[in-house]
Amino acid sequence: MKKEILEKIKKDLLERKSQIENELAGFAKKDEHIKDNYRSEFPDYGDKEDENAGEIAEYTDNLSIEFSLETTLRDINKALEKIEKGKYGKCNYCGNEIPEERLLARPASSSCVECKEKLSSQ
Ligand SMILES: [Zn+2]
Repeated sequence: MKKEILEKIKKDLLERKSQIENELAGFAKKDEHIKDNYRSEFPDYGDKEDENAGEIAEYTDNLSIEFSLETTLRDINKALEKIEKGKYGKCNYCGNEIPEERLLARPASSSCVECKEKLSSQ
């Protein structure tokens, strides 16, 4: 892989990472003990019944958003680690090089299209 492409991917990953961290910081607290883990805060609208229902609905939404953002954040951090170690761009499953186009479109990809398809059809 060309150095310029790797630099571009690294820049994209770092940008995406700070976006996600900002989004998470909007409704969740960073876990001091577990890396890349956040805890959604329970919103406080008030004590009326409809307010309580609203709090629960928002909290439930936040938990699912939190989960998907955390998953993406971990994938991004893994990709960044691989870049540091010079191991970026290889499929986790078959070890083949992942095509550049795929990496440019989805820089946190850790598998090639063939393996991804095999895994999702199981
Ligand atoms: Zn593969």
